[in-house]
Amino acid sequence: MTGFCRRDWDRILYKKTVERTILLEMEDRAAIARRAAKDEVVTNRLFYQEQFKELLYTRKFIEENMNAAIDEKQFKMYLQPKYSISQNKIVGAEALVRWIHPQRGMVFPNEFIQIFEENGFIRMVDYYIWEEACHFIRRCEDLGITDCPVSVNLSRQHLKDTDFMRVLVTLIGENKIDKSLLELEITETASGEKISKVAEQLKRDGFTLLMDDFGSGYSSLNVLLETPFDVLKLDKKFMDNMMASEKGKLILEYVVSMANKLELGLLAEGVETREQAELLSKIGCDSAQGYYYAKPMPQEEFFEMLLKERGKSADLA
Ligand code: C2E
Ligand code: CA
Ligand code: CA
Repeated sequence: MTGFCRRDWDRILYKKTVERTILLEMEDRAAIARRAAKDEVVTNRLFYQEQFKELLYTRKFIEENMNAAIDEKQFKMYLQPKYSISQNKIVGAEALVRWIHPQRGMVFPNEFIQIFEENGFIRMVDYYIWEEACHFIRRCEDLGITDCPVSVNLSRQHLKDTDFMRVLVTLIGENKIDKSLLELEITETASGEKISKVAEQLKRDGFTLLMDDFGSGYSSLNVLLETPFDVLKLDKKFMDNMMASEKGKLILEYVVSMANKLELGLLAEGVETREQAELLSKIGCDSAQGYYYAKPMPQEEFFEMLLKERGKSADLA
């Protein structure tokens, strides 16, 4: 131990403590990265980024607050109108959930839907939104408005069993609404075989099925072949990509013509400009939804907008 003094030991110990702290922090970060990489199918390898920590905090917040949010009715149904391009008239609406947290304010679906799909809570939220949609349709029917169907999103979690069908049938019966006014949006990325079986059953029960996000995945055409959808909803990204080149516009034109030949309805989502609406109309797609027309809004606001357009008095509501 010649030449070694207490101060040297202290320095070594200090260095070891620092190294250990760094190691622990790295392990911590690796664990965070591992969780974040769980869905990364391509490489399954992801490097830690500060934002993962942020994501975990958000997840914790969401999971700790979701039950109270249902009990206290913090989830709200927003409605986004669907328009006929040629008539510039509302032809329906999509129900989209918003979480209005008393402290945090508005929380958007992209922050919580995936988490709810993973922990199963999506069922509670969807059932609640479907119920709200049925109440809304009832109010419209009471005023003689029977040409504004409302579509609801059906998470792929529901496709695991048939519980959701019973819920739908009960809600429709309790609210005495016309089944054709509650439409169901199922994303094309839901697994093919499962959707087909469920979709056939829903069709037999008389529901209208919309294939959400058409063109966003790799299997759109296969799903189309196997599943009896009524309407294709063109995905926003797909449409934006296609509209960016002449070749893309041609592909879009053929998709529209294919839908027409297959006697499928067609609706373009995420329409943001007049040029997009005009192009869609020119190639034979007359229905659109997007910020060009209106953003999703609280249901009361949409109700007033609809009544005004249909020349109905709000006093009757
Ligand atoms: P989605 O079903 O594809 O809904 C369309 C999304 O595009 C909505 O986002 C809507 O606000 C947004 N959008 C509409 N027009 C435009 C536009 O012109 N430009 C742009 N940039 N965006 C537009 P939102 O409401 O944030 O919902 C995101 C996704 O969360 C939905 O995508 C849907 O997959 C899911 N989601 C929303 N509400 C529900 C729900 O009640 N249940 C279930 N299961 N999923 C829901
Ligand atoms: Ca949708
Ligand atoms: Ca969509």
